[in-house]
Amino acid sequence: MTTQPLILVVEDEPSIAEVTRLYLQRAGYRVEVLGDGAAALEYLARESPDLVVLDLMLPGVDGLEITRWLRARSETPIIMLTARREETDRVLGFEMGADDYVVKPFSPRELVSRVRAVLRRTQGTGSSPVQAQRVLEFDGLVIDPNTRQVQVREEDVALTAREFDLLYLLARHPRQVFNRDQLLDLVWGVNEFIDPSTVTVHVRRLREKIEPDPSKPRYILTVWGVGYKFEP
Ligand code: CA
Repeated sequence: MTTQPLILVVEDEPSIAEVTRLYLQRAGYRVEVLGDGAAALEYLARESPDLVVLDLMLPGVDGLEITRWLRARSETPIIMLTARREETDRVLGFEMGADDYVVKPFSPRELVSRVRAVLRRTQGTGSSPVQAQRVLEFDGLVIDPNTRQVQVREEDVALTAREFDLLYLLARHPRQVFNRDQLLDLVWGVNEFIDPSTVTVHVRRLREKIEPDPSKPRYILTVWGVGYKFEP
């Protein structure tokens, strides 16, 4: 029997925290709810939840701080809860490695579907008896979809789930140009209101991680006025 994924919800508004707990439990997840950032850090130092739903505005240690702390240690997926006015923080959160975000007020159903999608992306490979996928190799860059590992000049590079998906999609279709809406559809897979600048932020982060010179990209090229393509 498989254990249900454990979701940590960090949210200081009790009503939101409770409704979130209820819906996630109903969807079959185990849920731990914490109301402040310090407690969350303490918890994360000893437990390894499968995903963290993280409010950005928290008393004491805020969500960005927790994201930074967690990313320095693990690839645990993070979904941020943000208020509409917190757009700058949202972008920062992405830059620090959050996987997705939901804007308050949100429908609990919407959050559950995001949780499911992120878990599917991050846990979907490796354990099932499916045929191994081909490892992609280019001039100094190796992308292994089976282990979701990336190497640049024989050095492992830590990518978030979303960064990996984006890179893998582009690299599987060398020289094909994708615009930002297509990338949102194919990589984020939701038709919700996700700011297309999300793609820009992820591309920038990806370049910083894999490009020998991020200011003169070798692999992920910008096609001005259109989008992005992968140069093999
Ligand atoms: Ca809050």
